[in-house]
Amino acid sequence: MPDTTTERTKQPQTKATYKAKAYSAASATSRVASTTIPRRDLNENDVQIEILFCGVCHSDIHQVRDEWHSFMPTTYPCVPGHEIVGRVTKVGNGVTTFKAGDLAAVGCLVDSDRSCKSCEADLEQFCPSAVLTYNGPDKHLGGVTYGGYSDSIVVDEHFVLSVPSNLDLAGTAPLLCAGITTYSPLMHWDVTKDKKVGVVGLGGLGHMAVKLAHALGAHVVVFTTSPGKQDDAMRLGADEVVVSRNSNEMQKHAGSFDFILDAVAADHDVNAYMNLLARDGNMTLVGAPEKPLAVSAFGLIGGRHSLSGSMIGGIKETQEMLDFCGVHNITADVEVIPIQKINEAYERMLKSDVKYRFSIDMASLKSE
Ligand code: NAP
Ligand code: ZN
Repeated sequence: MPDTTTERTKQPQTKATYKAKAYSAASATSRVASTTIPRRDLNENDVQIEILFCGVCHSDIHQVRDEWHSFMPTTYPCVPGHEIVGRVTKVGNGVTTFKAGDLAAVGCLVDSDRSCKSCEADLEQFCPSAVLTYNGPDKHLGGVTYGGYSDSIVVDEHFVLSVPSNLDLAGTAPLLCAGITTYSPLMHWDVTKDKKVGVVGLGGLGHMAVKLAHALGAHVVVFTTSPGKQDDAMRLGADEVVVSRNSNEMQKHAGSFDFILDAVAADHDVNAYMNLLARDGNMTLVGAPEKPLAVSAFGLIGGRHSLSGSMIGGIKETQEMLDFCGVHNITADVEVIPIQKINEAYERMLKSDVKYRFSIDMASLKSE
């Protein structure tokens, strides 16, 4: 087998760039505003994509506001966006899987070392040299990578996904983060028919978890702090809905869940959910609140419960998730917005007022 990593690093890298329109934040307290950014001219393995839609993830807010400072400080200007779908405009000479005119998608990752144990296991998200789509070290141009709040992006073909042709594009964009982040733990913890699955927080991630777990045949219970979301939860595929601030309703489910996925973006009591797990049940955190969460030992030891985390998913599994969504006709429920409404969208997400993902129509950037 040729050592493709060495071959890749030997390839001449050009620093020539072109200008792209984008929206960026200049500091942790700035609004996201119009700007231009450099994108690299194509290297041999690169795909250039005209971005049509970009989903708005709560991670965009965390990072624009530098709320994850202790783990991954934000470098400014920050161009967020890692739920990207678009159309290929150009490809490098070495690209074999995409051609101009194809639909294509990019998620949270744009590079990795491709040689470590995680990369060999198709788990690039855990590669020590994984490069995130924004606010990651840009190996080509220096500085940091810029994300999908932009009219175009250039990405190595290994990190570009194919989009099933039957899916609505605005609703497909959120699959690239919210979709894979929930699909991956559902697969890892073997969620199948008849398993009892809880989903905590009916936001962007949560509503995808409901759709995916339902499609896998699980019995899905949604926990929400928003009584007004109950009908939607059932429509999205839940079998039951619990308003989590009602402790009597919570107690009815004590000791009964095989698996609970926690997709809450803010501080909350995880112990209330640990107590709902059956013996050997697992709760997985995908939400990434700014502050540490308190965990009671008794919520774990009593039923040999486990508490885990999960982060996005590898490229192979992301393609598998997209294909699964193509077969089951699953997309996110989106409210399509122009880029000019992005700051308002952030404020609404902070009030849990999103049904259930904002998707930016990037055509709106043309007027800037
Ligand atoms: P979102 O759309 O804003 O949804 C979060 C939901 O959490 C809200 O809709 C709300 O649901 C619930 N919630 C909010 N504040 C709450 C509070 N104080 N107490 C209890 N529940 C509350 O966010 P998202 O985009 O789905 O992201 C969720 C979290 O996952 C974020 O922290 C994000 O950074 C993280 N994330 C992690 C990964 C990963 O790889 N692990 C990937 C993407 C995102 P209800 O109204 O139903 O209560
Ligand atoms: Zn995300």
